[in-house]
Amino acid sequence: KEEYVRKPEWLKIKLNTNENYKELKKMMREKKLHTVCEEAKCPNIHECWAIRKTATFMILGDICTRACRFCAVKTGLPTELDLQEPERVAESVEQMGLKHVVITAVARDDLKDGGAHVFAETVRAVRARNPFCSIEVLPSDMLGDIDALKTLMDAKPDIMNHNIETVRRLSPRVRARATYDRTMEFLRRAKEMNANIPTKSSLMIGLGETWDEIIETMDDLRANNVDIMTIGQYLQPTKKHLKVQKYYTPEEFKELRDIAFSKGFKHCESGPLVRSSYHADEQVNAAAQN
Ligand code: SF4
Ligand code: SF4
Repeated sequence: KEEYVRKPEWLKIKLNTNENYKELKKMMREKKLHTVCEEAKCPNIHECWAIRKTATFMILGDICTRACRFCAVKTGLPTELDLQEPERVAESVEQMGLKHVVITAVARDDLKDGGAHVFAETVRAVRARNPFCSIEVLPSDMLGDIDALKTLMDAKPDIMNHNIETVRRLSPRVRARATYDRTMEFLRRAKEMNANIPTKSSLMIGLGETWDEIIETMDDLRANNVDIMTIGQYLQPTKKHLKVQKYYTPEEFKELRDIAFSKGFKHCESGPLVRSSYHADEQVNAAAQN
């Protein structure tokens, strides 16, 4: 029998849903849209959708060409491109009255530009309908295609987020195709293209990394001028995914947050339930004020 590390009390939370949430879910199905909030069964969904007015849309379909070993998104051959999707995302942002939206996408390695044009179009469509909603993009590395990155940066998102996910040593085991160095380069290049757009990256911990490796990852992100960092606990989505090696305590997360600030990050969210998009609305302001 396989051994599992026991889930601590602070992670035993109940999904808080209500009528409003059911309505929104219905709207997503009608508009054929996908959100990470639902697909990842994110525990923050009530707080984000109802109180903070934040949501994370996943565009370019719900089937990914990669299969990272921590991620629950379906893998396979993606469906064709849906050119009306940007407008439907923009309408939903309006109907939900969002103040901050995160737009992410599956990795579309089957497309020449990795889907960058549709991505950029979505940013523009959301902005046209929702001028007061801040927009964060969270793309894949688009195989390191610098033109694709430029297409996306030219749409002027309010935050460019690209996740490092894990420490250098574990990257080949945890991520599919993406590499540690390419992610760092992606973040550095984004900053070079437009220094006014804050860059951001997220790290999951609990996959077997050491404390020193976490610190080293922070240093590497800062060396590539990353402004915002989030740190959260890795949770195993199904039995087929990588096992959790360690549950960090809330105190350890707090300590990491303090270290991140001491290293010069303008903002850091660090906690067991922190996800890449958690409290993202606050980060736009924090990055702008500094
Ligand atoms: Fe959605 Fe992110 Fe909020 Fe979770 S933390 S509900 S994924 S916006
Ligand atoms: Fe999941 Fe992104 Fe990896 Fe695809 S590239 S499997 S969506 S983490």
